[in-house]
Amino acid sequence: MPGRLQNKVALVTGAGSGIGLESSILFAQEGANVVLVDINLEAAQNVVALIATRSPNVKVLATKADVSKEADVKAAVDLAINEFGRLDVMFNNAGIMHPADDNALNTEEHIWDLTMQINLKGVWWGCKYAIIAMRENPTDEAKGLHRGGSIINTASFVALMGAATPQLAYTASKGGVLAMTRELAMVHAREGIRINSLCPGPLKTPLLMDFLDTEEKRQRRLVHLPMGRFGEAVELANAALYLASDESSYVTGTDFKVDGGLSSAYVTAV
Ligand code: NAD
Repeated sequence: MPGRLQNKVALVTGAGSGIGLESSILFAQEGANVVLVDINLEAAQNVVALIATRSPNVKVLATKADVSKEADVKAAVDLAINEFGRLDVMFNNAGIMHPADDNALNTEEHIWDLTMQINLKGVWWGCKYAIIAMRENPTDEAKGLHRGGSIINTASFVALMGAATPQLAYTASKGGVLAMTRELAMVHAREGIRINSLCPGPLKTPLLMDFLDTEEKRQRRLVHLPMGRFGEAVELANAALYLASDESSYVTGTDFKVDGGLSSAYVTAV
């Protein structure tokens, strides 16, 4: 059985942890050659070693890049092209949630700027260089490969809902990801490039769990979650796999929610 991403080439940012880690494992398992990008090179290299034992038939490599730096992102995409000859899937997933990000009065300007640079501008750079690469993708019918590709941008449920536990810069940056993704999807739809946002609910990954470091903080959120639990990174990786694969060939410009029903909730079961 060919994998769901057989012969494709994927690049995943923030691949050293959480959603990016699980997605890199899954993409490779489904037959893709994968470039794992992270600001933490050691973390990405550890994931490469893990994949090498599980999926020995595909090629995976790690590279260090700060997604907020245009030259870093261009170099990572160039690496994918030089090593594998094409780019079919770009998963712009790296993001931060800064502990000093707060409400309108307490958030300092440098925290706002840092958050925007990574979470929003970083996604722009990823889209820019992926679009340039995907326009040049050679078609190979025998291998099921074609021009264009799939770009997935990680946003968040907080781009759709307000929270009384504020992280103003984070929320604004993710709203920007949704708006930018929709517009890019329209501009590039006729080039065979699909561009979607992924909207995770609150997850059991270091990004959130490092922040929710007391039972009180966790319970403050859990009461609002219809399923009564945080999501798992692999549940987002499965959604990213669908958006990456040709199974989602008529899906573009969507805010793809994987939030355990959170954004549909009024009163939840207790
Ligand atoms: P995580 O902290 O587990 O992993 C994020 C990875 O991104 C880390 O390996 C980190 O080193 C890397 N990274 C950070 N800054 C970077 C930069 N400038 N350049 C390159 N890599 C960088 O986080 P996660 O929970 O897997 O989150 C992944 C994405 O999902 C983020 O965009 C996050 O905002 C979003 N998200 C997470 C949740 C959640 O509850 N965890 C909810 C909604 C959205």
